[in-house]
Amino acid sequence: MTDDHILEDKSHFRGVWVFLEGRAGGLRDVSTQLIGEGRRLADLRGTPLTGILPGNGVDALAERAIGYGLDRVIVVDDPMLEIYRSRPYAQVMAQLIRRQKPEIVLFGASKNGRDLGGRLHAILETGLAADCVKFDIDAEGNLDMIRPSFGGKSLAHILCKKHRPQMASVRRNVFVAPPHNPDRRGEIVHEQVELSEQDLDAKLLEFDEFTKEGGLRPEEADIVVSGGYGLGDPKNFQLLQDLADRLGAAIAASRKAVDSGWVPKTLQVGQTGMTVRPKLYIAVGISGAVQHLAGMQESDKILVINIDPKAPLFEIADYGIVGDLFEVLPELIRQLDALKGGGVAGQPALPAEAR
Ligand SMILES: Cc1cc2nc3c(=O)[nH]c(=O)nc-3n(C[C@H](O)[C@H](O)[C@H](O)COP(=O)(O)OP(=O)(O)OC[C@H]3O[C@@H](n4cnc5c(N)ncnc54)[C@H](O)[C@@H]3O)c2cc1C
Repeated sequence: MTDDHILEDKSHFRGVWVFLEGRAGGLRDVSTQLIGEGRRLADLRGTPLTGILPGNGVDALAERAIGYGLDRVIVVDDPMLEIYRSRPYAQVMAQLIRRQKPEIVLFGASKNGRDLGGRLHAILETGLAADCVKFDIDAEGNLDMIRPSFGGKSLAHILCKKHRPQMASVRRNVFVAPPHNPDRRGEIVHEQVELSEQDLDAKLLEFDEFTKEGGLRPEEADIVVSGGYGLGDPKNFQLLQDLADRLGAAIAASRKAVDSGWVPKTLQVGQTGMTVRPKLYIAVGISGAVQHLAGMQESDKILVINIDPKAPLFEIADYGIVGDLFEVLPELIRQLDALKGGGVAGQPALPAEAR
């Protein structure tokens, strides 16, 4: 197929799609966050916003998804789609895209979304910009897909001018989910896609949901206590844990702490880790490299504890304590215990306005 042919066809593509993922009977929050951004883009383009929901018995989920701002949901219901599997899901999405020709398709940069987007861009011979942090529409109506480049030191603007659909993935917590409106009405469309046993590349023997150590996920916690190389030794993460227990907070870490083998990679915040957006992010012994900022700078409030008053993280801090963490943390813990009359592990101890 020549580029000219593709350009000629471009005008046939219309509409913004969001790939929807379910989890524990609800929608993954990256999906609801994408609906919010998808709504904005669809309004800018003057086209409808559609959610794509492959699954098994997912009508109730489709109804709920509409409340976040969709105009319609395309449901593909099939027992083979009960859980995510690469081939059947890619088959479903590719067939739907070929049939209905959306101009923009957005995926959450979850494990499944990354897998699906990567496969689809090869199948459909179009582009995919991964881990976008912002979108815009250029003067010609193309999607401007903006993502960090050069280790997070600059932002790249990626345009997919000659191919459709324009596809992008976005990590969790980059956008804020819109409020759910149960009165919002939309259309639910059931589409059939032919799937055969050959499309099943894997057989599900058992499903064991992965949870992070300690149970509380930093991406979901209201308060995150994050430790860096300044902690000096893995055993000092216990001090962070003591503080986190009193605040009902999750533990996270910088890459240098992870690369030193002190804590698992699953706790890493930043460009090559997770993105968090808690009400309060407490950074302890973390200098504030751009790659770390990329994962936490959208937190509502940031408290920095660092011995070096020139640490770059102070520049984006709402509150800062210049001091030795080995003095500051025990003192904070003492004060929290005094406030709570002893402190209860796992319970929030701060008054709501301080959280
Ligand atoms: C491609 C690429 C991707 C990357 N991705 C990530 C990523 O996802 N996440 C990430 O975090 N980094 C990432 N990095 C690494 C990043 O550039 C930094 O090296 C890293 O964030 C530094 O970690 P740190 O702040 O814990 O360590 P340091 O920079 O060494 O800072 C330690 C801090 O602790 C303070 N300190 C020391 N002692 C004490 C004390 N007693 N009390 C209080 N403070 C103390 C020091 O003043 C210092 O500011 C990436 C780098 C590259 C090149």
